[in-house]
Amino acid sequence: MQKKFTFINESFDCDLCGHSNVPAEQTCRNHCSECLHSLHVDKNPGDRAEDCGGILEPVGVEMERGELKNLIFRCQKCGQKRKNRLALDDNREKALDLAKKQAERLARGLE
Ligand SMILES: [Zn+2]
Ligand SMILES: [Zn+2]
Repeated sequence: MQKKFTFINESFDCDLCGHSNVPAEQTCRNHCSECLHSLHVDKNPGDRAEDCGGILEPVGVEMERGELKNLIFRCQKCGQKRKNRLALDDNREKALDLAKKQAERLARGLE
């Protein structure tokens, strides 16, 4: 069994926190549902065409009609920003925490 962070919609163990992720419902899982980190491996979702391979750190969220919709990631290696649909079983507390920190940064004019 290959233990790697490259996957489309299959189960994987997270390299960062060790969480065992099962395939997502309704969406392609490309980030860990526990620590919400991902890897910079796609140019377009699911294509695995990106050579960077850096860690995508969750830095914020996008809301739609008052609901959490997308996670926003920043690559620790190349600095590119990516986003991905929040999965149903993602850690909501962490996502809400990101939303809070994002709002604080915005309030202080850092973004
Ligand atoms: Zn993880
Ligand atoms: Zn990158």
